Amino acid sequence: MKRPAARQDGGQAGLKAVIAAVAERTARKRSTLAIFDLDGTLFDNRTRTIFILREISEKFSEKVPELSAAFERFLDLGAVDYSLEVTLKRLGVKHPAEVSFIKQEWARRFFSDEYQKYDMPILGAKAYVESVHRAGATVIYLTGRDVGRMLVGTTEVLRLYGFPVGVAGTMTIVKKEFEQDDGIFKKEVSEYIDRLGEVVAVFENEPANSNLLAARFPRAASFFVKTQHRPDAPELAAGIAVIKDFRLKKTAGA
Ligand SMILES: [Mg+2]
Repeated sequence: MKRPAARQDGGQAGLKAVIAAVAERTARKRSTLAIFDLDGTLFDNRTRTIFILREISEKFSEKVPELSAAFERFLDLGAVDYSLEVTLKRLGVKHPAEVSFIKQEWARRFFSDEYQKYDMPILGAKAYVESVHRAGATVIYLTGRDVGRMLVGTTEVLRLYGFPVGVAGTMTIVKKEFEQDDGIFKKEVSEYIDRLGEVVAVFENEPANSNLLAARFPRAASFFVKTQHRPDAPELAAGIAVIKDFRLKKTAGA
């Protein structure tokens, strides 16, 4: 399908065009695939980090006095940056020993099955993924989370928030090894995905991954979800539609 350009309407037309394209191929008994990243694409992870930091502040209050003090003041999600270090700085946590202790405790929790339920789905994400699935596409959750520590929690959270998972027309692909580079992982997996059918849409929040997948699947509609991403990210390639969330505006007759 023709790749829609970034639009003033936040990619609305493009989002709807994906559903129409899937339905059209399905009617012709053709296999279609839609690739969704999870962190920063279908889910906002900032709530996970805030929950974890608050837990650390309560459990280890004597070891983390600056963090505990931060939670005595009002906190909003805007304080949470892509980088934990930046977040802690914003919260007034500066003591090196405290910072390194928090980082260690945060990582143990953040990259684990148990804490993923504190993520918040991006607005409209569940309904949109459901629509794409219902139209007949195989929904592929392609994430840099790893099988050993995070697959169970990933599945649990998708189910908890009502995303199609585990049923026909869905696939969850995670990393075998946590240490594997995200970009290389997604590139290798895309070779496999390419053999399964026509990729009609790709959704990402990391510019590097977005560019990589857009180049790998030039006929697919490519969407960049503007949430949080690595600070050293490259410029987004032309032709990738930028969206804030997945809400579809109701139009007359739609
Ligand atoms: Mg992501």
